[in-house]
Amino acid sequence: MSYDYDVIVVGSGAGGGSVAYKLTKAGLKVALLDTGSAYNSDQFNRFELDAIRKLWWKPQWTTNFELNGGKSVDEINLGGGRVVGGGTTIFTAVAHRAPNENFDDWSNATGLKNENSEPFSYRDVESHYDRVEGETGVRKYTDWDLGVQRLKEGYSKLGIEIEAVNAYIDQNCDHNGCIFGCPTGSKKGSLLSYIIPGIYDGLTLYQNSFVEEVLIRKSSSGKPLEAYGVKYSNNGEIKQITAKIVIVSAGALQTPQLLLKSKIRELADYSGSSMRIGENMAVNTNTFVFGKFKETLNNWLIHPLSAHVTEFSLEKNGGFILEMSEIMDGPLGFSEVILDNDSRPMIGKELTNALKHYKNMAGVLIAIHDHNDGRIFIDEGGNVKYHKPVTGSDRDKFSRARKLVDEAFYAAGAEETYGAIYISHHPQGTCAAGEDRNKSVVDSNLESHDVGRLFACDASVFPSIIDANPSLTIYAMADILADYLAKRCGYLKPQ
Ligand SMILES: Cc1cc2nc3c(=O)[nH]c(=O)nc-3n(C[C@H](O)[C@H](O)[C@H](O)COP(=O)(O)OP(=O)(O)OC[C@H]3O[C@@H](n4cnc5c(N)ncnc54)[C@H](O)[C@@H]3O)c2cc1C
Repeated sequence: MSYDYDVIVVGSGAGGGSVAYKLTKAGLKVALLDTGSAYNSDQFNRFELDAIRKLWWKPQWTTNFELNGGKSVDEINLGGGRVVGGGTTIFTAVAHRAPNENFDDWSNATGLKNENSEPFSYRDVESHYDRVEGETGVRKYTDWDLGVQRLKEGYSKLGIEIEAVNAYIDQNCDHNGCIFGCPTGSKKGSLLSYIIPGIYDGLTLYQNSFVEEVLIRKSSSGKPLEAYGVKYSNNGEIKQITAKIVIVSAGALQTPQLLLKSKIRELADYSGSSMRIGENMAVNTNTFVFGKFKETLNNWLIHPLSAHVTEFSLEKNGGFILEMSEIMDGPLGFSEVILDNDSRPMIGKELTNALKHYKNMAGVLIAIHDHNDGRIFIDEGGNVKYHKPVTGSDRDKFSRARKLVDEAFYAAGAEETYGAIYISHHPQGTCAAGEDRNKSVVDSNLESHDVGRLFACDASVFPSIIDANPSLTIYAMADILADYLAKRCGYLKPQ
């Protein structure tokens, strides 16, 4: 059979955008499909409502109450990018490596191995981190807004040092608003670092193209099944293209949905690995604490997450990271997430009063080490459900972190603090990689256990939760996959 492409990549976020570029660079003929549109930097305008409509998935929530007999229970808002560049077009650009311990957790969770069939460890990812940091221009971000400066004073009275974050942001950053797309081009997401350079090298981008199904057929060599293309919809028309290799990089929420819609479970006769699709979800559950100061801080003036406290990040040290100073990038989002002191949404005068003080607010994002106890599934009516409990141990982490953040705020001179709803922008683990077929969906090379020539490359392949913002680790895993595939296809990836 002759194929349209060597490789089809579905989804252009951290995993898909970077792997598509690298395989194009290696000389392969690559198609990159995304359901979102592509924008130039000058089309991003920091207009909050417009950006939410064009660049984000419609609001999605966990549906925990349905699995709790309809009883009220904590829910998590799940946000992500539906745009070329995926989450990295709207992310806040913090670029951190996961700690060594997380990779030991990976090999313990699913039996993930390196290329020499040894347990996967930090050593296997280190040189890939080095490479992707170079490609994306990671630097220490030391331009701190007034909120961070005040919080630094507060934390240091408690004996805690805050550090500048590493970020994919060059010196031209002039404003907050990352989550509405970066109009200055200073934020280097997948679009600027990989997809645009890839197009210059011959990468074909299909925007506004929603992949409905991976095409799978019986195979007479290797695994009994193999992928050979995708069916996608564009402007109301259903089309298909073929390739020798299909890489699904639709993100940890969408990749399992696409694999389930492609009927892998049925075709693989409900194998152990096919039953793991959509299981094992962690989301790094987040919330905010906002502190109101007398002083005007105008915290929207520079990059929102420029400092952090990581000493509590590992489970054994507390299991939370604090990032600051985050007041949501716009007043609408701020008004949607803020809660009163009884953890209820505010209305009327109370809300107006809090909003009047938006310019006096600093914020701390609390991200916890939750567990891989969530799942995505399609119910009998064909509806997608996201189940991710907020457990007692999660709540303990949040309350310890909240106490610390409150102390820091008051020590820094804040007059009042407010909590916020639970959100997540870091879903992961829903198509875990590993050698144990009853615990993973793809193998250590990220190829499906059930379907040959079908790979996953995004946050879904993390075997267990990591204690860092995920994108740098996704980029590093994509770099490992690009090396592997370039070799397997007989190409050499340029260094
Ligand atoms: C507001 C926000 C702030 C964040 N801040 C940070 C941060 O500071 N640092 C950090 O490391 N991480 C951050 N993240 C998380 C980071 O952006 C994600 O972890 C990362 O982008 C995930 O990469 P991915 O390849 O798994 O998927 P994504 O980036 O989500 O990409 C998936 C792509 O697939 C496309 N797609 C999905 N389904 C289909 C389909 N069926 N057909 C075609 N296309 C499809 C989507 O449109 C999307 O473009 C943030 C995320 C958000 C939303």
